[in-house]
Amino acid sequence: MFPDADYSGRLDRARALMSERGADVMLLSVGSDLPYFIGYEAMPLERLTMLVVPAGGDAVLVVPRLEAPRVVPRDDAFSVLPWDETEDPVASVAAHSGGAEVVLMGEQTWARFLLALQREMPRTRFESASPVTRELRMRKDPDEIALLRAAGAATDRVVATLDGIAFAGRTEREIAADVQRLTVAEGHDVASFAIVASGPNAASPHHEPTHRVIEEGDTVVVDFGGRWHGYCSDTTRTFAVGEPSADVAAAYAVLAAAQAAGRAAVRPGATGGEVDRATRAVIEDAGYGQYFVHRTGHGIGLEVHEHPYIVTGNAEPLEPGMTFSIEPGIYLAGRFGMRIEDIVACTDDGIDELNRSPRTLHSVA
Ligand code: ZN
Ligand code: ZN
Repeated sequence: MFPDADYSGRLDRARALMSERGADVMLLSVGSDLPYFIGYEAMPLERLTMLVVPAGGDAVLVVPRLEAPRVVPRDDAFSVLPWDETEDPVASVAAHSGGAEVVLMGEQTWARFLLALQREMPRTRFESASPVTRELRMRKDPDEIALLRAAGAATDRVVATLDGIAFAGRTEREIAADVQRLTVAEGHDVASFAIVASGPNAASPHHEPTHRVIEEGDTVVVDFGGRWHGYCSDTTRTFAVGEPSADVAAAYAVLAAAQAAGRAAVRPGATGGEVDRATRAVIEDAGYGQYFVHRTGHGIGLEVHEHPYIVTGNAEPLEPGMTFSIEPGIYLAGRFGMRIEDIVACTDDGIDELNRSPRTLHSVA
C-alpha cells in the first residue's frame, strides 16, 4: 500500500532531531508516524506493534508474529522482531530502549501501552514525539506531493461525474454511496469519508448523510476523500439543485472570493494565521463573518488532518513542500450551507493547486 521511499533517510533525519532535543529513543506505534518512517501501518488492535528508534542505533520493529508477514522488510531502515503470544512485548521494547533517560512517544500510541512502559521504565521521562515527527512529515518531498496530486486529480474526476447525475429525489445517503463508489473507481485504495449535506443540513459543516430526500432549490455540500497509496485526498464542492435563490447566489459569490483570496495569500514565509486572515477578511467584510465557524484549513498527507493548520494564531511560516487545504464555508442555521475546499502545495514562488475542478456553484438537476 505504501510506496517505496527513502525510509532510512527519514529515520536518520529523525535521529538528528532527537539528538538536538536530548532524546535517547523514539517509540512509534499505531497511526501515521510509523508508515512515514518504515512504510508499514500497525493494526490498531490489542497486540502491541512498536518501532524502537534509538538516537544512536538501529531501528527495531517489535511486531506480533501473526502480523509479521504483513511487514515489507526494508533491511537498510529497520529489523523485524516478532513476538509470540506468550511473550511480553512491553519488556522487549524496554530492553531495546536500553535504559533511556528521555523517550519520545508517538502521540497516537494507546495509553495502555504508554502506562505499561512507564511501569516497566520508572526512571525514564516520556515526552511527545510530535516535535520530531511533525517537523519531518509537514515538509513533503516531491514523491509525496506527486501522490497527493494524483489523489486530488482523482477526486476532481469524481466531481466531474457528479455534475452529470440527478440529485433531486435521491437521499443524502444514496449520493454519499455514489461518491464513495466513484472515489474507489477513480483509483483510490479506499474511500475514507463522504459528507453529503443538503438544504438546511448543509449548515452543519461535518453533517452525517441522512435519509433526507434532496429537493429542487437545495444547496448540497459534498466533501469527500480517500487514500491513494496511503496519502489522503479531501475536496469539497457545493451543488445547487435547480436555480439557486438570490441569497444563496450572493453568499456563494462572497465564499468564492474568500477562497480565491486564501489561495492568493499562500507563499513561502506567509503564516497559517495570515492565510486564514486573508480568507476570513473577505467573508467578514461582506457581513457573513459569524457564519464562518471553523479554521480555513489543515495540513494533509498520510493523515487527512495534520500540521500545518491554517488557523488564527499559527505564526509558523509556510515553506515549499507544505500541503494543506483552503476551505472556507458559510453556514446559515436552518437555511443553507456552502463550502469550497481545495488541497494546495506551497511552492518556491506561491502555490501548486492539487484540486482543479471548477470552484463555481455546480448546477445539477
Ligand atoms: Zn473536506
Ligand atoms: Zn478538509
